[in-house]
Amino acid sequence: MCLFKKKAPKGKALIFSAPSGSGKSTIVHHILDIYPDMEFSVSATSRQPRGEEKDGVDYYFLTEEEFRSRIAENGFVEHEEVYPGRFYGTLKSEIKRIWDAGHVVIFDVDVKGGVNLKKYFGKDALSVFIQAPSVEVLRERLVKRGTDSPEDIEKRVAKASEEMTYAPQFDHILINDDLQKAFDEAEALVNHFLSK
Ligand code: ADP
Ligand code: 5GP
Repeated sequence: MCLFKKKAPKGKALIFSAPSGSGKSTIVHHILDIYPDMEFSVSATSRQPRGEEKDGVDYYFLTEEEFRSRIAENGFVEHEEVYPGRFYGTLKSEIKRIWDAGHVVIFDVDVKGGVNLKKYFGKDALSVFIQAPSVEVLRERLVKRGTDSPEDIEKRVAKASEEMTYAPQFDHILINDDLQKAFDEAEALVNHFLSK
């Protein structure tokens, strides 16, 4: 009989954070396309699905009550009320699922979540803050994306300047101006981190 408990597999983590509209999802999807051993951490949220979003793929869509009961069960590594009444969080079960499969976990989370995840994973994580060249460019990108109401766009833009103050707490700040250059820089950072 084995007296030792089987140790949970521990893997690496990549954390991408930014004010909404900076291009974080675009960069995360690019990284996922080129690295087969990477897997996106599907967050839980209490917001409604938008567009073509699917439960279990884009998010685990929970009601606010379901979300609160997962908090009470200590089911989250981190969670934030990113916008008033809209909760987002990383489930412990999600990280276990990805690491059990031998994959590197990749996060697309808000800036506070990014800082908290980096504290949690320490040197096993690379944290990258994505920044648009200016708040005006950020607003233009959100308008062009066409997924949010004008009120939601204003809420996101209003939050951006406070969110920028978190940038120095990340391992790297990546300015997303020319998209190809941003892809190249993100790849270089990831390659360096994974080769350590
Ligand atoms: P986030 O995930 O940070 O909210 P997205 O990745 O959804 O941002 O990007 C916001 C919008 O800006 C999208 O429509 C995307 O195609 C566009 N975008 C992203 N990066 C650039 C870039 N470097 N130049 C121009 N448009 C961009
Ligand atoms: P959206 O509503 O645009 O999908 O996401 C809004 C914000 O919530 C984005 O900044 C996104 O990165 C963030 N977010 C998504 N999942 C999580 C999560 O698990 N934790 C935290 N803290 N933020 C998240």
